[in-house]
Amino acid sequence: MQPDDFRHQGLRRKLVEELRRKGIKDERVLAAIGKVPRHRFIEDSAFDRFAYVDQPFPIGCGQTISQPYTVAVQSELLQVAPGEKVLEIGTGCGYQTAILCELGAKVYSIERHRPLYLATKARLAAMGYRAMLVHGDGYKGLPKDAPFDKMIVTCGAPEVPQALAGQLRPGGLLVIPVGGEGRQEMYSLERTAAGMKATKHGAFSFVPMLENKAGG
Ligand code: SAH
Repeated sequence: MQPDDFRHQGLRRKLVEELRRKGIKDERVLAAIGKVPRHRFIEDSAFDRFAYVDQPFPIGCGQTISQPYTVAVQSELLQVAPGEKVLEIGTGCGYQTAILCELGAKVYSIERHRPLYLATKARLAAMGYRAMLVHGDGYKGLPKDAPFDKMIVTCGAPEVPQALAGQLRPGGLLVIPVGGEGRQEMYSLERTAAGMKATKHGAFSFVPMLENKAGG
């Protein structure tokens, strides 16, 4: 595992200040970003210097590690309380998973791409994060472990997957980018007695959520 030296820690502090300037207010989220060594989620240490730039970065398999600002916005919208059960869809390299663990969540995370699932499982375990990682299709959610307090989708969904709302507890939140390839609108959906109450939180760009392709 790559060391986490003073240089990394300094760059991380600067990133936290940048996110604060960009409007992130939740101190717990900022503290989590200040703590998780993002450079360890980028395989090739030659690209170390990009780890604390506020940009997405390619991680292989045609996927990316989400931009820190995006991770911060989604984490803030999720309002995670310690001990809550959170389902993440789109584990990728596991950076968002680690942030959720730092926020005290009990994390379940689904990834459809098997090599990524395996690499991330090993990485998070080596870093001491205990999350329940699953290889499968996030469109189905995780019925056997439902209900969840919160759900976060970290790939761009053409629409809100049917199965997910039913696996959320009443009063629970689903944070999901919805839209076509290249541009999605961030939604926070609250499960209420009357149905799902939606609020919009601006435009983002995620890799697409792909259906029924587990095993890729
Ligand atoms: N959470 C990651 C972002 C990963 S990118 C981070 O912290 O950086 C989105 C991931 O969603 C990709 O790894 C992609 O393979 C995965 N994905 C796409 N469609 C999916 C589906 N239907 N089920 C599970 N994972 C999916």
